[in-house]
Amino acid sequence: MITRHFGIPVTSPGAILRRERDLGTALGQETAEALRSGGLVSDKIIIELIEDWLRLHGGHGFVFDGFPRTLLQAESLMSMSTKLRTALDLVIWLEVSEETVRDRITGRLQCGECGFTTSSSSAQFANRPVCPYCDGRLERRNDDDLGVLQTRLQEFRTKTEPLGAFYKKVSVLHRIDGNRDRDAVFSEISRLIEDKTPK
Ligand code: AMP
Repeated sequence: MITRHFGIPVTSPGAILRRERDLGTALGQETAEALRSGGLVSDKIIIELIEDWLRLHGGHGFVFDGFPRTLLQAESLMSMSTKLRTALDLVIWLEVSEETVRDRITGRLQCGECGFTTSSSSAQFANRPVCPYCDGRLERRNDDDLGVLQTRLQEFRTKTEPLGAFYKKVSVLHRIDGNRDRDAVFSEISRLIEDKTPK
């Protein structure tokens, strides 16, 4: 939604790694088990992915989804930004209850081609699971499973949650209630982006 509305390129290491896995590349094979089990992929791999992506696409603004997830990744992002002579404008922390997470992953459908995400309860996609943007197939993710969720939550609590304090120190952190519907959350994120956009 951010790319479509603001034209800012978005990337997500999870989406890149799912694509690599589906293509059967060496990187995809090396990381497939971490993805399937819900564990985090090594910092070294993730940081290299982001560095490569920034070199290619990072000239005029960027949004990361699902990065950084560890302190080392956050520190590396700071050094990358310094090298690019840019600063992070916003860190958006979507606060969701465990119940919301459970409900969302149980119904999540994702396009294997472009990453468009929706829910199986959406009447529009229930009978024809085809992406409205690229005609890719909408599918369930193999880590959207209640057993795997426990590992993902544990990784979040031990490795990602400390980033809240890290970004609070540099005053770019905005916490948003992510339990609301998509439009309410998007309009709050949009306001934050608009406030940062030169008029
Ligand atoms: P996501 O699509 O963001 O839910 O990520 C799916 C999976 O990709 C995660 O459970 C991890 O295995 C891996 N992954 C994505 N982003 C990262 C990251 N920043 N650091 C480590 N592993 C990641």
